[in-house]
Amino acid sequence: MFQKQPWHKLSQLLGARGVKADWTGFPENLLKPTNELAETFPCAGRCGGYMDVIKHNDGQHIGVCASGCDKRSLQKKDLIVHVPDFTTIFSGLAAAFGINGVAHTEIDGLPACWQIGEYNPAASYRFPVVAMIEAQASRIERAIGQLATKFKKPFFVLLPSAPAVTQSVQDVALRNGAKVFAYEDIIEFTNDAIQVRGNAASILSDLSAAWIKNIDGSSGETRYPTPAGTVWGDIILEFTADEMITVSCKGQGHKQFSAEDLQMRDKRTKKPKQAWTFLQAMAAANGNMSVSDIDKVKKTKQEVSANLQRVFQLPDDDPIEWSGEDTAYKAKFIVRGGEKLTLSNARKRTA
Ligand SMILES: [Zn+2]
Repeated sequence: MFQKQPWHKLSQLLGARGVKADWTGFPENLLKPTNELAETFPCAGRCGGYMDVIKHNDGQHIGVCASGCDKRSLQKKDLIVHVPDFTTIFSGLAAAFGINGVAHTEIDGLPACWQIGEYNPAASYRFPVVAMIEAQASRIERAIGQLATKFKKPFFVLLPSAPAVTQSVQDVALRNGAKVFAYEDIIEFTNDAIQVRGNAASILSDLSAAWIKNIDGSSGETRYPTPAGTVWGDIILEFTADEMITVSCKGQGHKQFSAEDLQMRDKRTKKPKQAWTFLQAMAAANGNMSVSDIDKVKKTKQEVSANLQRVFQLPDDDPIEWSGEDTAYKAKFIVRGGEKLTLSNARKRTA
């Protein structure tokens, strides 16, 4: 059964530090003792404030309420300052939301802000995820502005408690291409692990699907919905007609692309570009194409690689390699079908 837990304590206690009595209700296994002893201690009296802790010469610690409602002896062990075990908390959050964890690094110049990983829903789309332990709206808003400048792409901000996600915080996030949400209602700590409510996993995927649509839509380019973790070897291109290829990837449904979709058709002459015939010749050679004069085709090959990288959103990895030993271009993806064209014949047709 889901039990709401006081994650808001993370942002309530100054610097997320406090004695055990401050952390009441917070999962004890997620707290770590420091070497410090507190100089103030919660007064259990009417005032609701704090007592000053005075150390006597005999080693005794006495709490004295500034409002005068209490004065009592305190155990040394109760005065030990505890901090949250952020490594465990952020790892749990990352696992709960399907975030690829990088190091849990506090972001330079932004106190109480940690980048806990990236959400990678498809191919090269990576959205940073930041955990913030801050409750004050003005500070959250300022941090969001700074994060937007830093990331230059959409990002997620996780906050412990819902009251911190005010309308104005949401507005600032929207203006900065970010989405903020609180996790207090969706995660709990039980059986020594952070557990998540069923619907939580869809939160990031729904939001990022909208972002991806927006990014792809604004580029005006056709893209393949490449699943996350795809490598070129997973992709199969098959020529099914003179100007049509069918693409499949990791058992995902087939999708058809025309020369135009791959930006391999000349807009003026309406004929396929050399890049397209290069790809056809590559298919005819089953992805291993001998080339006698590399200088003649190098530029075309670069264009093919760039187009494929854009369509499949795998920009950091060239899909076609040159083998000096075999004097051949080798495709890292599978490419087949098409007419039995040689590269020189193909080039004649488009000349
Ligand atoms: Zn008091």
